[in-house]
Amino acid sequence: MSAAIRELAPALLDWFDRAGRKHLPWQQDRTPYRVWVSEVMLQQTQVATVIPYYQRFMARFPDVHALAAAPTDEVLHLWTGLGYYARARNLQKAAQAVAANHAGVFPESIDAVQALPGIGRSTAGAILALSRDQRHPILDGNVKRVLARYFGIDGFPGETGVERELWRLADLCTPAQRVADYTQAIMDLGATVCVRSRPLCTVCPLSEHCIARIEHRQTSLPTPKPKKARPQRSAFAVIAMNDAGAVLLERRPPTGLWGGLWTFPQFEDRDAAMSWMSTAGHPASRQLPDYRHSFTHYDLTLQPLLIRVAGTPAAIAEADTRLWYDPRQPARIGLAKPAVELIAMLSSD
Ligand code: SF4
Repeated sequence: MSAAIRELAPALLDWFDRAGRKHLPWQQDRTPYRVWVSEVMLQQTQVATVIPYYQRFMARFPDVHALAAAPTDEVLHLWTGLGYYARARNLQKAAQAVAANHAGVFPESIDAVQALPGIGRSTAGAILALSRDQRHPILDGNVKRVLARYFGIDGFPGETGVERELWRLADLCTPAQRVADYTQAIMDLGATVCVRSRPLCTVCPLSEHCIARIEHRQTSLPTPKPKKARPQRSAFAVIAMNDAGAVLLERRPPTGLWGGLWTFPQFEDRDAAMSWMSTAGHPASRQLPDYRHSFTHYDLTLQPLLIRVAGTPAAIAEADTRLWYDPRQPARIGLAKPAVELIAMLSSD
């Protein structure tokens, strides 16, 4: 076992004895029920916010039976403001399962705890470690950050292989003695010292062996979630401008992208655009700078081709779906964004 693994728990426990939080409401009278409610409330919410909610909740639902028998509306009412209401609904469902299947006594085995609604491996481990001093590793968001930095684990912790490695390390680091204090300590360290941005390495009890500190990689660990490459699409837009400065616009089909709005005639590729222009008797064109637009699911690059036409030739302006649009005397029509921006660009040209 490496020194980094061997020395993590003693260093953390020593820090916990000196600086750990020991007076939080759920640290008093640590029954599995009380710890469980606190763990669920703390899943997405900061300690300071949780405390008054926790106290009201416990005053109204002091045990599993009270929570199991309560009207769901009342449970949700006491949760109002904490958000993520599925947590409250699952909490009550789990209380009902404990009442029905375990005679109201919170189960002692990790498998039985994990089988309850809304309780994953880390929460189950935390409940049993904190309330029963049972030896189980935990790996919530804070602990993932601490371990990824301390051991210099590259890769997004949500990836299966990385998560498996973090669980392995979490297990190796969990001591056989004082598991409750260790569990509280590693959660506290993540929440107060090894914080997401600007971790307080100078006061951290783990700094001696911490790879992130030694290699100055605190900001790049843990590895952020990889961004998916966005699909890229491109098209050609033909801007036909007559000598009066009017441009030819085309109405988009009523559904789909920019449905029913007016924009420049658009073509999938250059050949299609050229063919349309030569049909209209205007093969010469000038390429303008690309226009880029990001949609929710992809990026579009429009390559605008400018052609100059004389008069307002009917050949390329069909009734209803095409019109000549004079930006100085704008018709009251809905313009798609590329039309607005390309027209603005042409005006400032
Ligand atoms: S030394 Fe810094 S990066 Fe490493 S565990 Fe401590 S606070 Fe986190």
